[in-house]
Amino acid sequence: MGYGEQPYDRFVARLRAFGRNGAPFDVKREEGPRWTLCPPGHALDRLEYEIDLARMEDAVFSASDASKWREGYVSLLGYSVFAFVEGLESSPVRLEVKVPDEWPVFSTLAPGVPAGRGKTSASASDFYALADSQVIGGPRAQVRSLRAATPAVFLVLYSEAEAAVDLDLVGRLVTEAFEAVVAYFGSTPFAHYTVQQEYLRPRSDAHRYGLSMEHLESATFYLAADQALASHPDDAQRSRVLYNFAHHMAHAWIPKRCYGPGYFPFQWELAPLLDSIWFSEGFSQFAAIDALAARLAPEEAAVYRDRLVGRRFRQSLEEAPAFLRRLPLVELSYVASTRYGEDFRTGRTVFARGGLMAAEMDREIRRATGGRRSLRDALRALVSWSAREKRAFEIADLPERFREATGVDVRAIYHRWLAPR
Ligand SMILES: [Zn+2]
Repeated sequence: MGYGEQPYDRFVARLRAFGRNGAPFDVKREEGPRWTLCPPGHALDRLEYEIDLARMEDAVFSASDASKWREGYVSLLGYSVFAFVEGLESSPVRLEVKVPDEWPVFSTLAPGVPAGRGKTSASASDFYALADSQVIGGPRAQVRSLRAATPAVFLVLYSEAEAAVDLDLVGRLVTEAFEAVVAYFGSTPFAHYTVQQEYLRPRSDAHRYGLSMEHLESATFYLAADQALASHPDDAQRSRVLYNFAHHMAHAWIPKRCYGPGYFPFQWELAPLLDSIWFSEGFSQFAAIDALAARLAPEEAAVYRDRLVGRRFRQSLEEAPAFLRRLPLVELSYVASTRYGEDFRTGRTVFARGGLMAAEMDREIRRATGGRRSLRDALRALVSWSAREKRAFEIADLPERFREATGVDVRAIYHRWLAPR
């Protein structure tokens, strides 16, 4: 789900499948991340397996892709532990979690404070929603409710940083970013939202920290301990953290609920090639920038927007290798589909080009409408279209949808930014 491929089947052990009469089937390992659980014509009743979490964290170098197991703490990414069973992907799921009796445990599918003790349960509408969720437990997880009204907002923090992390301060920044993004989109397609923040001692020199990950109703921020928020952050750090929260929250709208082909239905056993990462990343990051800008007075907002667009997008594009700048943007999106973070030159170049396209469209819409409309109106309309249609948009239709929403023709900008630079 993070524009990469993680063969989590490597960490599965003692897989057993049973029929209705309780007798075990002869489970067969196939090519790829796949097992045949039962012979044709037989019904599967139960599946058992173990996951070696320590081995997962050792082998997966990207911190945002691995579940964690610590003394007094466990953190599970749904897609790294839950089996995809072909044929059951659309069925509703009931989740029951058991941990040691005295342990608090929290599911992002049914968050609450205080967290359940020893067990918790939740439902998911389908396998995608289950796989996209997180389970966090243990006495060393700090859980806080930040906002009781719908959508309720929760913060779950675990820290291995030397200095204590100021939970109040992290909570204030989460709330500020969340409120800005909700105001930007003008809709809240979920009843609750959870921010999971980890500050971890690096597992090895090869392990990488810093990439965060969006989900339907949560976001996971798995950073190294030395990236922990200082208790008195300077303006630059405060602004970086606020932007990173807003950026991943904006993804709950784009692309988790408003997306191009390949995002949903999702292909689990081989990462899909996506033609619209420049939109998912560039446009939602621009949305985050504009959402934070909207907290300021109009003149200040324009300055803030230009400064962040310059730093985040223009500078990234200037630093991008020429061979990536020369790729047509859709081709670069295909390349980034499986190596966005693995080789972040691809990720950075694809979001920078999309972000600059978004910024230019926003400027043009504001100019042509005398400031009455902006890209925000185009994105709100596209989000509504996606909620109504429940399917992927075609990227070729974007300029026309934006024109319908704003009355402004942005086709020339669209084509210029898709072309090789
Ligand atoms: Zn992103």
